[in-house]
Amino acid sequence: MPMLEVRDLKLQYSSARGVVKAVDNVSFDIEKGEVLGIVGESGSGKTSLSLALMRVLPKNVHAYEGQVTLDGKEISSLPDEAFRKQVRWRQISMVFQGAQNSLNPVLKVGFQAAEPMLVRSKTDRREARKRVEDLFELVGLPREIYDRYPHELSGGMKQRVGVASALVLDPKLIILDEPTSALDVSIQAQIMNLLKRLKRELGLSMIFITHDIALSSDICDHLAVLYAGEVVEKGSAEQIFGNPKHPYTQLLLASVPRLKSDTDPKYIPGAPPDLTSPPPGCRFHPRCPYRFEPCDHKVPPQVKVDEGQTAKCWLNVESEKVKAKK
Ligand code: SF4
Repeated sequence: MPMLEVRDLKLQYSSARGVVKAVDNVSFDIEKGEVLGIVGESGSGKTSLSLALMRVLPKNVHAYEGQVTLDGKEISSLPDEAFRKQVRWRQISMVFQGAQNSLNPVLKVGFQAAEPMLVRSKTDRREARKRVEDLFELVGLPREIYDRYPHELSGGMKQRVGVASALVLDPKLIILDEPTSALDVSIQAQIMNLLKRLKRELGLSMIFITHDIALSSDICDHLAVLYAGEVVEKGSAEQIFGNPKHPYTQLLLASVPRLKSDTDPKYIPGAPPDLTSPPPGCRFHPRCPYRFEPCDHKVPPQVKVDEGQTAKCWLNVESEKVKAKK
């Protein structure tokens, strides 16, 4: 049984321009100790997906539906208050995008990391301090950091504080939203090494959200490629990097610059669609170099292209037909 099962998750916002379909019928599973990469360009719905899983929803929510099961227990049907007390931070926690800039400048970082313990589990201050200092050590920070203010720390150190804070209530799953963006390349590598070590040593399950498909290859076991709020391809890292079946995934991979290659990286023409009125048929069709007859008016189905790999593209429907005729 997967540790996390997400079925038909949908999140829509109201806006002056209409309803924004930010997350549209997204489904995936995560096994214990596994890292799932959610990959896609800016505006593909990645952050909305993580907020939907954490149920941190803005006031202008138009629709929030779907089924989420954690360790066999359906958590999506819990009332908001029960979800806040039982699930958020305790079972699913998150390192927010730009976490290094979200620390309160007037509070000591140790206190900020300890806050979920002090507030949610009423742990006494001495015990909470010990737990946070242990976690600081685990993520490669000196214990004395506890009494420092954010301005005394580098960007990389603040990001480590963010990771320690997410671990403080010993959750089953951590969502990392672009955890290395806005960091220098060398600091990025340090944070990736830290995450890989935590995965190895603690058997942590993670959702790793990134626009950088190359970076996801460093840590992810499985990937879900998101385009215009929909998962267009899913599979193991090996399948996605070795044999991508959706043109969008293929173009994302082709856009990665390679040091030891004479081939220039390719760019994806056009821009992601406005999610208040996504294109009919396949949402990628205005940008797709392979589009053909059904693409601009018929929604492609998710097709199983290999064991554990699916792609939402008419090309795969056609090749399955050819295979069936042989
Ligand atoms: Fe391209 Fe058509 Fe496949 Fe969409 S369904 S990705 S437009 S070939």
